[in-house]
Amino acid sequence: MRNVDLRSDTLTQPTASMRQAMAGAEVGDDVFGEDPTVNRLEEMAAERLGKQAAVFVASGTMGNLVSQLAHCGRGDEMILGNHSHTFFFEQGGSAAVGGIHPRTVPNQPDGKLALEEIETAIRGDNVHLPRTRLIMLENTHNQCSGYPLDADYMKAVGEIARRHGLKIHVDGARIFNAAVALNVDAKDLAAEADSISFCLSKGLAAPVGSMVCGTRDFIKEARRARKLLGGGMRQAGVLAAAGIVALTEMVDRLADDHANAKKLAEGLANTPDISIAPELVKTNIVFFEITRREMTVAELVNRFDEEGVRMSPSGPNRIRAVTHYHITSEDIDYSLSAVSNVLK
Ligand SMILES: *Cc1c(COP(=O)(O)O)cnc(C)c1O
Repeated sequence: MRNVDLRSDTLTQPTASMRQAMAGAEVGDDVFGEDPTVNRLEEMAAERLGKQAAVFVASGTMGNLVSQLAHCGRGDEMILGNHSHTFFFEQGGSAAVGGIHPRTVPNQPDGKLALEEIETAIRGDNVHLPRTRLIMLENTHNQCSGYPLDADYMKAVGEIARRHGLKIHVDGARIFNAAVALNVDAKDLAAEADSISFCLSKGLAAPVGSMVCGTRDFIKEARRARKLLGGGMRQAGVLAAAGIVALTEMVDRLADDHANAKKLAEGLANTPDISIAPELVKTNIVFFEITRREMTVAELVNRFDEEGVRMSPSGPNRIRAVTHYHITSEDIDYSLSAVSNVLK
């Protein structure tokens, strides 16, 4: 029996060249700004995203939070999607830590926020109202089938933000998946963002870490917020070394993950009792629904597990499967037949 673990791309293990780079990394005290490997990774990340500077943080959650803290003060409001990772899965840290008020706008099935709904959500100058400071977008959009937001949409949101004097933060946990899927430079997707964070630890397979990129002044503030949150790491070059390998060696191959996800989505679309929109699957995340009611999603996921295929329950009828570095095309064939067997 195979073991095909499709629960998340966070399960990826560091590659042999990452482990080698980590073992040999030149390090220093990064809180003093003296870790040459962290400094190199930060320069590289800023360059890749077309920004002046970057800061290495412990996680995607920390990257989003330090960005929010750098853009907003207590009582300020940020506009974000009602299915966004920040709204759902980050413990409300912006409110808990920053006193920042979240204002949700519905995510469309492709992860976008409708432009007119963003515009409507922006507060006027009135003593009753919080002040809108920030628009947050997520690219790719995790809960919306990993859909990538394109540069035209980013431009349209950028125009609204500028007109109202707002900042844009992009939760780009999987921004390189978006860039590969759209066949554009990540820079083009980040051009309208005042700040953008991305994860080294997901499809790019580094063991730990995310990057936040923006202007030099913004990164200075983000670095202060990182220290406040206890994220000032010392000889962090051992981690950054893997991040450098992630950016150098692991970006282009994301196309394989996308092809595997597409194959999975199309196979599931041809499986009885499953409902899926395969046209939304452009990157590495596949959501599908079970239309048969006699088994719960939890029971089904357990049955898949017994066949050697692991997926995540994601709502009353919904299951999530994510492709990544350790998943092959044969694993997808195997998973599809396991799902068919269970549903037979
Ligand atoms: C995973 C993820 C995060 C958070 O990253 P962690 O490193 O798990 O904290 C943020 N945003 C999105 C869209 C994610 O998928």
